[in-house]
Amino acid sequence: MRVAIVNIGTIVSGDWRDPLARGDTIVTRDGRIERVGTASAQEVEACDVVIDAGGATAIPGLIDSHVHITFGDYTPRQQTVGYLESYVHGGVTTAISASEVHVPGRPRDAEGVKALAVAAHKCFDGYRPGGMTVHAGSVILEPGLNGNDLGEIAKKGVWLAKAGFGAFASAYEYAPLIAAARAHNMITTVHTGGSSIPGSGAITGDHLLALKPHVSFHVNGGPTAMPDADFPRLIHESDIALQVCTAGNLRTTLLCARLAWEAKAFDRLIIATDTPTGSGIMPLGMLYTIAHLSSLGGIAPETAIGAATGSNARVYRLESGFLSEGKLADIVLIDAPDGGTQADALSAIRHGDIAAIGAVISVGEPRFVGRSRNTPATTRKVRVAKCTLPRDFSGAKH
Ligand SMILES: [Zn+2]
Repeated sequence: MRVAIVNIGTIVSGDWRDPLARGDTIVTRDGRIERVGTASAQEVEACDVVIDAGGATAIPGLIDSHVHITFGDYTPRQQTVGYLESYVHGGVTTAISASEVHVPGRPRDAEGVKALAVAAHKCFDGYRPGGMTVHAGSVILEPGLNGNDLGEIAKKGVWLAKAGFGAFASAYEYAPLIAAARAHNMITTVHTGGSSIPGSGAITGDHLLALKPHVSFHVNGGPTAMPDADFPRLIHESDIALQVCTAGNLRTTLLCARLAWEAKAFDRLIIATDTPTGSGIMPLGMLYTIAHLSSLGGIAPETAIGAATGSNARVYRLESGFLSEGKLADIVLIDAPDGGTQADALSAIRHGDIAAIGAVISVGEPRFVGRSRNTPATTRKVRVAKCTLPRDFSGAKH
């Protein structure tokens, strides 16, 4: 499929260091971005679908790097189906599993956690709920696992490992498994802050500095924050990615973002939701945290969007997250919400409003064009100007 998006008002690149791209057109082909900026009339004419953005803003599809995936599009914690599809209507085109810890009766022995990770990984390999790419299968590090076990599942495709829910007496005991997971080229993640499982202790700065994972999961608290004094230590004494989550402590999100910015460590700040959890299902969670960082934290909207897209892609080695040639064609059109006070999407975010979503394209396929079922309506009209395929992109259901 070839898709052209024309009349774009602003193109946000996803790279916070160079956050705006020139031009008004994006062309995609067979799931990849072919062109960003300008395209000839013939190139646009050759497309199967042409979307008229009407002056709206294009951003990369949002990457939520902390989602409590189980199996299918179902969350046992909130007993709800269809939540991932609902997140697509919040602009999320990629979700990364925070480990399948919410699977009812989940196993705790070595064979069980290996099988769970492999099964989850394979189940989402080609399954895209609502068009979302889901990276699932994060092995839950438990006593009894060893390096050979991790090597075995790495060969089967598992590339995520999670510390924090295992039956260890002390969090320091994760260290050899995290090192082994790293040796097998996995991305390693550690729960941060107060325990969310009764009986397990808090994980704070000292633990993280000793464990050296790639990512401090919900560094702002999941949902309970670690001591304030640990934030500068993590930033200055490690290269750990700092994941701030919507379902955590907002004050420490803002603290962490400010410290990371001042320390020139903003590459390491990444946004996620840490949902669905007890906090609920949050299809607009990524947009909330972007708006919080911008309106309360003083970070430019296009820079905050980088933390939700390109920076996540870099940390997790994904092919999406940027509006640039060759990347996966995950594109979201956003705008000022109808009825608001601001003229465009970026001004609305800076103002603290939730951006309105006018279209989501993932892996080169329009999933809906015109109106998200979760955000307010856009101020500008985003529409399908041409479609040669027997498809309806209105997103209308029922
Ligand atoms: Zn979580």
